[in-house]
Amino acid sequence: MQAKEINKIENPYLLLTPGPLSTTQSVKQKMLRDWCTWDNDYNQIVQQIRSQLVRLATSQSGYTATLMQGSGTFSVESTIGSVIPEDGKLVVLVNGEYGRRIVQIANKLGINTIDIDSGELAPPDPQALSKLLLQDEQITHIAMVHCETTTGMLNPLTEIGEIAHKHNKVFIVDAMSSFGGTAIDMAELHIDFLISSANKCIQGVPGFGFVLAKHSSMNAIANRSRSVSLDLYDQWRCMEDNQGKWRFTSPTHVVRAFAEALKELEAEGGVGARQQRYYENQRTLVTGMQRLGFECLLDAKLQSSIITSFYSPQHADYNFKRLYDLLKLKGFVIYPGKVSKADCFRIGTIGDVWPSDLDKFIKAIETAMYWKDD
Ligand SMILES: *Cc1c(COP(=O)(O)O)cnc(C)c1O
Repeated sequence: MQAKEINKIENPYLLLTPGPLSTTQSVKQKMLRDWCTWDNDYNQIVQQIRSQLVRLATSQSGYTATLMQGSGTFSVESTIGSVIPEDGKLVVLVNGEYGRRIVQIANKLGINTIDIDSGELAPPDPQALSKLLLQDEQITHIAMVHCETTTGMLNPLTEIGEIAHKHNKVFIVDAMSSFGGTAIDMAELHIDFLISSANKCIQGVPGFGFVLAKHSSMNAIANRSRSVSLDLYDQWRCMEDNQGKWRFTSPTHVVRAFAEALKELEAEGGVGARQQRYYENQRTLVTGMQRLGFECLLDAKLQSSIITSFYSPQHADYNFKRLYDLLKLKGFVIYPGKVSKADCFRIGTIGDVWPSDLDKFIKAIETAMYWKDD
């Protein structure tokens, strides 16, 4: 069969991507009817979600969750634009696309911003940050991505959190692709604002993100936002004052699906059990891929269980698009590479995906590699 014909076939497939990702049938089922938004039943679900998110984020009290319409980036932009005051200064630790995006957002909003870019293949350097904080007393806020989805690298949250705490800076973490699938206690890690979204490790569908912070931190950011629809404080105030009411049209179907996803996270055994499954997924993937001759971009010690980058094969007839199409036909969707200096592709191991699925994937990629067009 020619690759052209393969493209036309719409078969069901498993998403081996970092969001949207494969969700359970029961999560999808929740969206198969119309849901109202303007009453107590709905607001109670929103309130329950908010308190469940707080419980996932820390065992300490005094924290609160705000849900925000849009994809994850909208919540990042909402946080950056609502938290940093006019006379504040932000330093962003950059080692990939998502760190660069925070810088781009801050620049667009006219926020005084500098970055420390360690390159895509190295983690942020805690010493470089400490040095900068001693040199530049204007800095008020530090932002970093936890799992840099560009490569799959897990950044040093503990070390950077300690530095932020020691220097008394506000610490903002984009934990989009790790929250719910990696144990995090934001209080212990000195994280002031933690951002994630519905369609990553909690295994909901895309449509909203959320921001976790202390009540006192939220109270401190009134009237700072540079945007109306992305005003984090106003959004929080509305949810607080009206027991779970959204300011503007809420993504009702996505919220219902997310409530189910949270229930299923608990049924699986919580974040610890999910983290273990993702770890086994990733190990099954890497063992199988290495047996087929593929090489990982990152050292194992820098690698998360969320997504893994592999170097593209070097033989002359390799072509990502063709591999992608063949794998899609076999029921698996992979992800292109995003690293600027290396030719890679990526495979996600989060979502309703299990080690046995990765075993099947390895068989599929093995046959796809030796596929000959006739
Ligand atoms: C997915 C992701 C985002 C948000 O991306 P959207 O496409 O806006 O949902 C932000 N940061 C990281 C690290 C991510 O993995």
